[in-house]
Amino acid sequence: MRDETKSKFRESLRGPLIERGHPDYNEARKLYNGMIDKHPLMIARCVDVADVRAAVNFGRDNGLLIAIRGGGHSGPGLGSCDDGLVVDLSLMKGVRVDPKKRRVRVSPGCTQGDVDHAAHAFGLAVPAGIVSTTGIGGLTLGGGTGYLTRKYGLTIDNLIEADVVLADGSFVTASKTENPDLFWALRGGGGNFGVVTSFLFQAHPVHTVYAGPIFWDQKHARLIMQRYRDFLPGAPEDLGMFLGLKTVPSTDPFPRGEWGKRVCVLISCYNGTAEHGELAMRPILKELPPPLFNWMGMMPFPALQAMFDPLIPKGFQWYWKGSFVTALPDQAIEAHLESAAKTPTELSLMHLYPIDGAVHRVAKDETAWNARDAMWSMVIAGIDPSPQQANAVTRWSKAYWDAVHPHSSGGGYVNFMMGDEGEGRLNATYGDNYARLTAMKKKYDPANLFRVNQNVRPAG
Ligand SMILES: Cc1cc2nc3c(=O)[nH]c(=O)nc-3n(C[C@H](O)[C@H](O)[C@H](O)COP(=O)(O)OP(=O)(O)OC[C@H]3O[C@@H](n4cnc5c(N)ncnc54)[C@H](O)[C@@H]3O)c2cc1C
Repeated sequence: MRDETKSKFRESLRGPLIERGHPDYNEARKLYNGMIDKHPLMIARCVDVADVRAAVNFGRDNGLLIAIRGGGHSGPGLGSCDDGLVVDLSLMKGVRVDPKKRRVRVSPGCTQGDVDHAAHAFGLAVPAGIVSTTGIGGLTLGGGTGYLTRKYGLTIDNLIEADVVLADGSFVTASKTENPDLFWALRGGGGNFGVVTSFLFQAHPVHTVYAGPIFWDQKHARLIMQRYRDFLPGAPEDLGMFLGLKTVPSTDPFPRGEWGKRVCVLISCYNGTAEHGELAMRPILKELPPPLFNWMGMMPFPALQAMFDPLIPKGFQWYWKGSFVTALPDQAIEAHLESAAKTPTELSLMHLYPIDGAVHRVAKDETAWNARDAMWSMVIAGIDPSPQQANAVTRWSKAYWDAVHPHSSGGGYVNFMMGDEGEGRLNATYGDNYARLTAMKKKYDPANLFRVNQNVRPAG
């Protein structure tokens, strides 16, 4: 590419253009998952929609591979690419809360924590994920599950409107009334359809919650999984509760005597008082043995959201695989116990996130996100700080997934897939919606310009 072409592009941007050799290049290209090491040709740190349009036009006209980066949390590193252009949205911060309408407008560089912080001041929250450093962009476009899902639905179920820069550089708004087909595709279709430059969400009254983890020795995991399976679908929807098979981290503030112990954990969030929360949880807790320790208590919602952040800073090795689960028969629980007993590192885990309640009240064809009849979204994540453990955590995640996947519904959450899953997995995930998604891709991105994602190919 000629220097003049690049200079022109640089001058057209308000934000910095970071190329190889730039002092900030190595820092700017880093992703959350330390297992992924991509070297883009240039990173356009956009600060407004004009920058995004300039970057998309420049990338397309110069035949560059384009990656869109929100929070950079994608497991397979889909927020970057080798030898192409990164449209980096991370400088586009800003959250505007409309307390009267309980609506929250979010810029695409925001993290989950940015949104929680701004909304909390108004006694509100947008249903989304459980780790504050996750980017709201990728999380939303893939679906978005978290503590508030049972009561208020997926993040996409609370999306009212999105501004989008399309592959041809044009700018549109998508909502139920404006470009409704694009709005349908955005809700679950990932970054396939354009660069979202603004999200408008419905928020809900959430402020101080009764929440936290309860840890049991893993020898009780069979009983806890059975009781959890039977209890949660009938529990009040104000109670979000996910189950984890994990290890007590050998670090403060965990009790020293329990460090390194394999555990089964219930991590809960009751949107209400401790008294009501205890009442809601009593039916399951009274059937379980005394825990190793119980950290339930009242806390501001953003504090709960940031609870795990210190344990998993940027740069660790991650390999994950997911499945949607409609039922959890005893046979499946046995397969879980067998694989969990082989967990290779302290941080590696299996989580079962509930996706019942409000998620089921949306029809399967109402959004691209199709798994409306699943009960849980499962993730198996092999995690470790050391690159030396990369193979071990990858092997374990794959073997665990192979053992339990026969008990799943076939598809999996696109945000819990790596880059090696193949089109068959996307087909299984989107089910009856897949053909329509490929038709939408043909309409909005016929040349597949946006293909650094869980890629939906244009029909035909
Ligand atoms: C520690 C951790 C915890 C997590 N917890 C949860 C959870 O509780 N719930 C949950 O649902 N998911 C969770 N996830 C998964 C998360 O949703 C995905 O990793 C998601 O891709 C992160 O989005 P991002 O913007 O940070 O990622 P990026 O890597 O920046 O982008 C991911 C994908 O989204 C696309 N994209 C991002 N922003 C835009 C945009 N504005 N316009 C168009 N495309 C865009 C990118 O092109 C890319 O394909 C978690 C991930 C991690 C690492």
